[in-house]
Amino acid sequence: MKNAARFFLICGVVAAGVAAMAEARRYYLCGKCAVAVGKEKTPAVFACSGGGHHRWTDLGKAGNSVYLCRKCTVAVKTAARPNPADCPASGHHDWTLLGKTGRDRHLCRKCKIKVAVSGRPSVFNCPEGGHHQWDKL
Ligand SMILES: [Zn+2]
Ligand SMILES: [Zn+2]
Ligand SMILES: [Zn+2]
Repeated sequence: MKNAARFFLICGVVAAGVAAMAEARRYYLCGKCAVAVGKEKTPAVFACSGGGHHRWTDLGKAGNSVYLCRKCTVAVKTAARPNPADCPASGHHDWTLLGKTGRDRHLCRKCKIKVAVSGRPSVFNCPEGGHHQWDKL
């Protein structure tokens, strides 16, 4: 019983900390392994699955716009259009705004990407070519 109470207390503190941090968070993407993380400062460089050190690019401030890159198929939630530099697929990212973050989960039949936006996501620039074919989940 005592342990359970302590567990919930710790969870509460962590959740409050995350909420306070949300404003300061930025998105970072590794140009080698295509992992995107939301953090307050540049993440550690160690143990990139692409070999050696991660190569982080600051994509911009975290926010509630969902952007998808057609080339590397990474989706991020930022305040403005993300930085196009260093796409893991090659050259520059090709970002498309899919919509505002929300509770409506959709899966594209073609590229198999899942997004949670408010309403219907944009159909443009499916990584598999042409338009996305979104199914509401
Ligand atoms: Zn990496
Ligand atoms: Zn990209
Ligand atoms: Zn698609």
